[in-house]
Amino acid sequence: MKPRILTGDTPTGRLHLGHWVGSLENRVRLQEQYDCFFLLANMHAFTTRADKPADIRQDTLEIVKDWLAAGIDPDRSTITLQTEVPAIAELTWFFAMLLPFNKVMRNPTLKTEIETKGLGDTYSFGFPMYAVGQCADILAFRPELVPVGEDQEAHIEMCRDVALKFNQLYCGVGNRVPPEEHQTAGGAFPIPKALIGRIGRLPGIDGKQKMSKSLGNAIMLSDPPKDVQKKINKITTGRQSPTEPGDTSNILFTFVRAFIRDGARVAELERRYAAGDNIGDGHVKQEVAEAINTLLAPMQERRAKLDGPAGDDVVIDLIRRGTRRANTIAEETLSMAKQAMQLDFGPRTLG
Ligand code: ATP
Ligand code: MG
Repeated sequence: MKPRILTGDTPTGRLHLGHWVGSLENRVRLQEQYDCFFLLANMHAFTTRADKPADIRQDTLEIVKDWLAAGIDPDRSTITLQTEVPAIAELTWFFAMLLPFNKVMRNPTLKTEIETKGLGDTYSFGFPMYAVGQCADILAFRPELVPVGEDQEAHIEMCRDVALKFNQLYCGVGNRVPPEEHQTAGGAFPIPKALIGRIGRLPGIDGKQKMSKSLGNAIMLSDPPKDVQKKINKITTGRQSPTEPGDTSNILFTFVRAFIRDGARVAELERRYAAGDNIGDGHVKQEVAEAINTLLAPMQERRAKLDGPAGDDVVIDLIRRGTRRANTIAEETLSMAKQAMQLDFGPRTLG
């Protein structure tokens, strides 16, 4: 049996380059070695967009199209929908009891999101709950690895804490047992590890926040070449002329290093830019946009085949198929957890 991977995305919009370098690239790469589960966190989309069910539904389908376009192979990997895996919601409750309220509220990722997404002090009760829910998303599949971007590190840490605590409290695992030995020591849950992508936090084209679906600063995997160039052109560095020595730690060069894959060319650009050797921002932007478009072209070709309602049907079918498989595993997990908690009053079967 292959070790498992679990990760996912919230359907709050289409996927962008940040997803690619932060997580998606790893998912595509690891599909052969791992039994992969990719979760559509549609419940979590409701925590900030409860008034937009139609958008959430459409974004859910669009994300699957982005996954398939990026190279996720539904014959090898399992695509599943959070709201159709009831064990996740049940585990969320159990885990909520193991986490101090104030610890959840101090979670730095939540704090940043409240700030950057302008959620003020009127965000829903469900919003901070999503961080607890995410522990259940992950642990329901008992994975070894969770490929995510850097912003998710705090969440994975919380997930590890919950798993450790559950195993200690209900499965008799000793306090001194190291995390990697929890399952062999009788723990219901493995203590999963975050796998951070090649670029853990890609900034948006605004150069301030991380690139994010919700912040209007993203280059989407489905953006046509012209839009990519236009968006890259919006990057500002403050540099005045091609002969001014430039700072290669700026946002433009973050994109250079992320997307120009020829290391020698990157080094050359860095050298000339730093020296002010007659190389303008405009030129660098053009090379970056070309590199991005080269990366995206095959994805967009695959995506075009999934356009429109016929593509939606294909996607819905894949979701149903994957969710049946996901429920088998998640139900097994829930039943192990309930047994450990002395809640094993009766068997049940789903889907
Ligand atoms: P939202 O704005 O709704 O929070 P998002 O763009 O942050 O959307 P998520 O669905 O929250 O996207 O994140 C999905 C995955 O992609 C997570 O593993 C996250 O860490 C990763 N990710 C998102 N944005 C970036 C980024 N800019 N750089 C690297 N990884 C990222
Ligand atoms: Mg996010």
